Amino acid sequence: MRVLEKVVGLKEFRIIKAYTHYKKKIILDVETKNNEYLCPKCQKKTSSINHRFKHQVRDNSLSNKDTLLNINRKVFYCNPCAYSFTEKLKSVEPRHIYTKRFEQKVFEDCLENTYTRVAKSNHLTYDCVEGIYERIAEICIQHLLSLNEEIEILGIDEISIKKGHKDFQAVVSNVGKGYVIEVLKDRKKETVVEYLQKLPIKA
Ligand SMILES: [Zn+2]
Repeated sequence: MRVLEKVVGLKEFRIIKAYTHYKKKIILDVETKNNEYLCPKCQKKTSSINHRFKHQVRDNSLSNKDTLLNINRKVFYCNPCAYSFTEKLKSVEPRHIYTKRFEQKVFEDCLENTYTRVAKSNHLTYDCVEGIYERIAEICIQHLLSLNEEIEILGIDEISIKKGHKDFQAVVSNVGKGYVIEVLKDRKKETVVEYLQKLPIKA
């Protein structure tokens, strides 16, 4: 399973079993590598597991097949506090049914295609696609709004740093004030979207 874990590339999970559903879907039974967890109440580690439950999420396709993760979620128990709590996941938002990277991919698909098309190519409903897009777009907008109240227009241009070179980089600038905020490593859509989402939120 080690090779498959590398291919899947979600470091927090150990793959227990991999199988297909009528050769149309790939299903991976996984669990986190967390053997102990910090109790949110006393901040001390506990390794006692109260129970587990199944949490199924959609992930990026493998070999062009829809891929589902059956996550065997752990609910830890802290004896001194008599308190049980579910482990948190790095790759899935609480109660979401898609991995973060799958949602990101759907969002990026939506930047260039209609919801209908994205829904069809990903075997999702129109409402799911719209929901994912609007949620991530809202996060981008909130980040931008909180970055600097004085930014009225955020510009994203591309430039070639080395003369005659074909490697373009994206430049993020405050158009109204006329200064560059950041020069990104390349002009790929993923790079720009990732940058916009990581902008610090101003308190
Ligand atoms: Zn505790």
